[in-house]
Amino acid sequence: MRPSRPTSRPRPRRFQRRRFCKFCADKVDFIDYKDIRVLRHYLTERGKMMAGRMTGNCAKHQRELTQAIKRARNIALLPFIEK
Ligand SMILES: [Zn+2]
Repeated sequence: MRPSRPTSRPRPRRFQRRRFCKFCADKVDFIDYKDIRVLRHYLTERGKMMAGRMTGNCAKHQRELTQAIKRARNIALLPFIEK
């Protein structure tokens, strides 16, 4: 499944190198939303979530990570997007 967003826009080619999925390497089954040190690693300076293609995470773990970050935000462990 992929988002049904038109991909006509040219995209900056910065994160070219395909990195391995850190969570797969660590054999992580469940990403702990309380472990903000891990979650913060996948947020930009402004508190924005990084896309899976940038982090190199596999789809499964990226989805888990997204869930974990949302959960952490809801209980105020992580900031929402800072302006
Ligand atoms: Zn993975």
